[in-house]
Amino acid sequence: MRELKKGYLEFKKSFKEYQELFKELIEKGQHPKSFFITCSDSRIVPHLITNSKPGDLFVSRNIGNFVPPFSKEAEFSSAASALEYAVEVLNVENIIVCSHSDCGAIASLFKDIKPSISNINIRKWLSLGEEVKEKTIKDMPKAPLDEKKEYAQKISAIFQIKNLLTYPFVEERVKKNTLKLYAWYYNIEEGEILVYSFKDKRYIPLEEFDE
Ligand SMILES: [Zn+2]
Repeated sequence: MRELKKGYLEFKKSFKEYQELFKELIEKGQHPKSFFITCSDSRIVPHLITNSKPGDLFVSRNIGNFVPPFSKEAEFSSAASALEYAVEVLNVENIIVCSHSDCGAIASLFKDIKPSISNINIRKWLSLGEEVKEKTIKDMPKAPLDEKKEYAQKISAIFQIKNLLTYPFVEERVKKNTLKLYAWYYNIEEGEILVYSFKDKRYIPLEEFDE
């Protein structure tokens, strides 16, 4: 907490630089163009890796950057309600699902986690990655675990795009071309972003992407 307080005092000193921008964002409201879904991992800083300003990104984070498939019975779904708000209220133009290297949630898919009272919700949440795990094992049964994890991290973002399309309001806007969906893979160690090209069916560096 002491470190956060120190950080806050630093922020207060520099707040003047941002004050005009925040004033404008209050007066005109927020109009972010992009909804950014990523992992809760502390090493992923969406604004830093996209050089975004306050007001630019509407963000939803969870362990593993999973998108639960559409359900009318979902109980208290933070992920689904953020999605509804981003699309239906804020009218975002892009949704980015950003997976990443060294993801603990993806690594957990390949571990045998014993059920206990302290991991009920984690286990349930990670079951969203079951399809990703199955496809990885099917596609590379003999690969070393590290390769499996990297592959799973990459295909997971694509599976989440598939899940996004189960939401009727997302599917409708994608068909009308008023909403675009992107799967990203962020390499923490290299600071590099790859994006999945649905045209070429492979990940390519973001700087080469033009779809
Ligand atoms: Zn992660």
